Amino acid sequence: MNTLATQWQAVKSRILEAETNASRPEGSVKLLVASKTQSPAKIRSLYALGQKAFGENYVQEAIPKIQALSDLDIEWHFIGPIQGNKTTLIARHFSWVHGLCRLNIAERLNNMASQGCPLNVLIQVNPDLEPSKQGLPPEETLAFAQAISTLPNLALRGLMAIPREPEPGKTPDFSIIESLYQTLARKGFKFDTLSLGMSNDLEAAIKAGSTCVRIGTALFGPRPSNKNKGTV
Ligand SMILES: *Cc1c(COP(=O)(O)O)cnc(C)c1O
Repeated sequence: MNTLATQWQAVKSRILEAETNASRPEGSVKLLVASKTQSPAKIRSLYALGQKAFGENYVQEAIPKIQALSDLDIEWHFIGPIQGNKTTLIARHFSWVHGLCRLNIAERLNNMASQGCPLNVLIQVNPDLEPSKQGLPPEETLAFAQAISTLPNLALRGLMAIPREPEPGKTPDFSIIESLYQTLARKGFKFDTLSLGMSNDLEAAIKAGSTCVRIGTALFGPRPSNKNKGTV
């Protein structure tokens, strides 16, 4: 097997093991491949292995890739920060948006999304209130979720977060986002998606209830520069 196939199998095994350790059903966690900076050829070979969901961060970079791969039945997720002038393109080319945290953006996406085929959205929460990260403070999430729920062309599916990186050797603390997700689900929101966990913390995320891990480095190796990290 080539390296990419080997790495993909390794990530799938990590997910399965984490599901088992957390006493969660096999297959309850989706692998979303974070394919920013990666070529359409690599995406195509992962698709051939059975990988369906891919996440992109930059509209400009994503559209040509999506077009080059339009013969495949890929589920495209937009996982980057959303600019107001990109909402038309995002609504047209993606079926999921992970980083929703502004009402005017939500309204624009709602206007652009087609009726009868709602855009799946996740509210981005900033559980540790880190200034470098997008997302709502936990206490503003309920009101925002209520506002989003009135928009007919958006399907609010859950939450997304990038919690603080722990000190080396420490386990990440996902408890804030975990309990917020449960609180909102109890309040009656029809949540089925918690987008949480990346290459180096997917096990902890799955333990905290993640249903969708976003994985780049563990599959492709380190990105050429680190500039794409922390912009989200
Ligand atoms: C790039 C990216 C990832 C993947 O992170 P890795 O540490 O490379 O696995 C996950 N989520 C978002 C929002 C990203 O931009």
